[in-house]
Amino acid sequence: MTDSSKDTEIDSAVYKTLLESTRAIPWKIDWHTMRFAYIGPQIESLLGWSPASWATVEDWATRIHPEDRERVVNFCVAQSKAGTDHEADYRALTQDGDHVWIRDVVHVVRNDAGEVDALVGFMFDISERKKTEEQLVVLQKELEALSFKDGLTGVANRRMFDAILEEEWAHARRNNQPLSVIMLDIDYFKQYNDCYGHIEGDACLKRVAQTLSSAATRARDLFARFGGEEFVLVLPGTDEGSAAKIAERCRSLIFKEQIPHAQSPVSQILTVSLGVGTIIPSHQDDPLAFVETVDKRLYQAKQHGRNCIVKGS
Ligand code: GH3
Ligand code: MG
Ligand code: MG
Repeated sequence: MTDSSKDTEIDSAVYKTLLESTRAIPWKIDWHTMRFAYIGPQIESLLGWSPASWATVEDWATRIHPEDRERVVNFCVAQSKAGTDHEADYRALTQDGDHVWIRDVVHVVRNDAGEVDALVGFMFDISERKKTEEQLVVLQKELEALSFKDGLTGVANRRMFDAILEEEWAHARRNNQPLSVIMLDIDYFKQYNDCYGHIEGDACLKRVAQTLSSAATRARDLFARFGGEEFVLVLPGTDEGSAAKIAERCRSLIFKEQIPHAQSPVSQILTVSLGVGTIIPSHQDDPLAFVETVDKRLYQAKQHGRNCIVKGS
């Protein structure tokens, strides 16, 4: 044996040791036969499959999660044919029926003529990273939900109201349908706080929100805290008559609660004032101007002695 062939032998032994002691799984596919010329023994500890069972490209493809298979196989074949190095994330089937997230990093080896000869690559276990990503998505969704929720009462907040109003406004305009909005404000709530304290005031707001959230029952109806002790209802596809009934229901739901309000100049129990408006929006109409109109009616209800409803004329 010459020195140089000995060197080569040592080199390949070193490479083999190195390859087989990494956590990533090395592999090589012969492009012409579509068979694995090599698969690292680590495949067995990661996925449970013996290296011998990992013989053809088919063996690889059938062990990809069905939801990922077509995307990954098509992508890898196209990239390989084009001679482009690439990487793909997918769930690989384990021998006991579970799945592990894999990132396959692929290098395309060409011969002297520039034709694709082989593919070599590493499979990395990215399940931890994927788990973190999935947790992040869940957290993001929770955060999004929270950002549309009022912190005190748990009902939708002003932001949600703005978003839904815009959406329903466009929908009503397109479909030439009525859209109603009810604005509601607790009477003499400043006195309530003064009399019972702010903590009790907060508890009262929660109770009012809870009570009023059952006033409108259709799937697209929205009940939200507009701010402070003001609440709002968005009622798509609801005409004046139906909106007036829901406003009356709000008033009677609060009345039935019989929440004591000793300092209220209108009653010994908590009452609310309401403004109601209905519109079939046209292109000239503006949602802000409409809300303003409803708010003015609420103000009129206050001026008319509170504990009452002002509707459109
Ligand atoms: P009106 O009948 O004219 O509506 O009288 P009001 O006292 O209810 O109206 P005003 O707007 O003067 O006062 C609203 C009060 O609501 C003042 C504010 O301290 C109280 N308030 C607003 N938000 C909260 C809250 O989150 N918690 C508590 N406890 N009180 C709040
Ligand atoms: Mg008030
Ligand atoms: Mg107010």
